[in-house]
Amino acid sequence: MDYQAFFRGALDDLRDQGNYRVFADLERHCGNFPNATARGEHRGEVTIWCSNDYLGMGQHPEVLAAMHEALDRAGAGAGGTRNISGTTHDHVLLERELADLHGKEDALLFTSGYVSNWAALGTLASRIPDCVVLSDALNHASMIEGIRHSKAERMIWKHNDLEDLEAKLASLPLERPKLIAFESVYSMDGDIAPIKEICDLADRYNAMTYLDEVHAVGLYGPRGGGIAEREGLMDRLTVIEGTLGKAFGVVGGYIAASAELCDFVRSFASGFIFTTALPPAVAAGAAASIRHLKNSDAEREAQQANVAEVRTRLDALGIPHVENPSHIIPVMVGDPVKCKYISDILLRDHGVYIQPINYPTVPKGTERLRITPSPVHSQADIDHLVAALGDLWTQCQLARMPMAAQ
Ligand SMILES: *Cc1c(COP(=O)(O)O)cnc(C)c1O
Repeated sequence: MDYQAFFRGALDDLRDQGNYRVFADLERHCGNFPNATARGEHRGEVTIWCSNDYLGMGQHPEVLAAMHEALDRAGAGAGGTRNISGTTHDHVLLERELADLHGKEDALLFTSGYVSNWAALGTLASRIPDCVVLSDALNHASMIEGIRHSKAERMIWKHNDLEDLEAKLASLPLERPKLIAFESVYSMDGDIAPIKEICDLADRYNAMTYLDEVHAVGLYGPRGGGIAEREGLMDRLTVIEGTLGKAFGVVGGYIAASAELCDFVRSFASGFIFTTALPPAVAAGAAASIRHLKNSDAEREAQQANVAEVRTRLDALGIPHVENPSHIIPVMVGDPVKCKYISDILLRDHGVYIQPINYPTVPKGTERLRITPSPVHSQADIDHLVAALGDLWTQCQLARMPMAAQ
């Protein structure tokens, strides 16, 4: 076999479909987010409008100070897996902070949110005898991979559809172990699951619940505990999973649950046991970020204000975006080649960086630009974004919403 020709051919197919991914090579400017210098093909100063560092915590002085302090105190790496010399006091403190954030007995850290979903779902579903996983159709790849890896029986229910979920639950014997896996804020459409109703069904049909709050932790609830905190539902969920890499601005993932469940995953999950622990400085930075957002609403309020402002301004220009109750603004393009073209021109001519979101991240025909306003975007940044999008919509003759004042 000509291996190189095989790789080339597969990549050419991706390019032909408009789905080939090109990274933007960026240097973020600490203290000056969301601004960055682009180092790649389109060089120059850019404003980032697609970051998952939703609140700018990646440059927060308290986070940086905690990381500097821990780096100088404890050095660079953890030095081992959690079991073999890698559990530092910073890890212990962070897990306590996370358990408290979600009102759970305990929490367990992983090297990323992806790994936490993969390892926790994989372990629970494979080790609980005869477990069936009921998985929302739009669950994140990390959950899907964890469930697949477990080899447990899997039933996929229609996205956020309680009737379909109930029909599937009712088709199973009441005593058979069941795990309902879903997200709170879905990251590509920005819609939110009916958590209370799902918990009601779980109670009725004797199921556990596993909620991915990756796009909600830090952002919703009086202390940043997520949608379940905002709605007073944290105690009804068996497992809450989150990331330290998005609103908390650092890196890492976790689950929060009962002491027994956390101890069970700690003791049986390969993806927890056999990998080096996060650096202590990362744990210290994440803990500082969580602590700050437990006590401060200012970042959440400023973010929501900027989200509302961008939506209103897009409406005034008739630029179509999906209405939803979250901080995510999907601007629909519906064509992968156009989507990439618009993104390229935004970067090249306007210094606006919004990554095109194409298949397989979203279904074909729903290609989009996903805008994530943050508290560190200024009024001038918003003016510039909206003007650039307006120009492009005219230049590319893209459809506008009816009734718009143009
Ligand atoms: C990003 C993401 C993850 C993975 O989290 P990381 O910390 O980035 O690995 C898990 N679930 C969802 C829904 C995500 O969007």
